[in-house]
Amino acid sequence: MADLSFDLAISLARSLTTIKGCSRFEDAINATAHDLVRWCKGAVIGRQIWSPEDQALWLVTEARETWSEWTCTADLRTLFRKKFEPQQLAPERKVFDPGVKPPIDCHRCEDVGTVDGQYCHCVMGREMKALWGDKLLVTARVKSFPKPRVITPAEIEQAERRFHQPSLQKLGVA
Ligand SMILES: [Zn+2]
Repeated sequence: MADLSFDLAISLARSLTTIKGCSRFEDAINATAHDLVRWCKGAVIGRQIWSPEDQALWLVTEARETWSEWTCTADLRTLFRKKFEPQQLAPERKVFDPGVKPPIDCHRCEDVGTVDGQYCHCVMGREMKALWGDKLLVTARVKSFPKPRVITPAEIEQAERRFHQPSLQKLGVA
């Protein structure tokens, strides 16, 4: 994924100055813009893909809408990590994750996004195609496994008969 552009980072850092106490000094705005570029590298959370722009926009909006006063860069960093890198935080600051698997939207690819080395037609497949193009398909093709064979009822019956044969013979039934 391409890095967050510095122009966007600057404009987002500048918008943070709407928070009471956030420095309007150009040096401070520059420093925050550099932080945004450094932190926002793109992420996949659950089934949602976040571009660096998505991450930076979320962070700045969240801070502006929930902070009544600016505290420090460390708190902005913590806000970012709570959302995007909870595993990097100390245990007591981790976001509670109930670990519930989201329901599967696409039964063709099971929400993996690829089927037999091709992108699926579903939302996940389209998003992955837009992001990774041919790069991902090369790996996907290497990793794909042959589909398990469907077992016929006749084969099941045969296997059952083989299983029961010795005991039936012992009883004198077969
Ligand atoms: Zn699909």
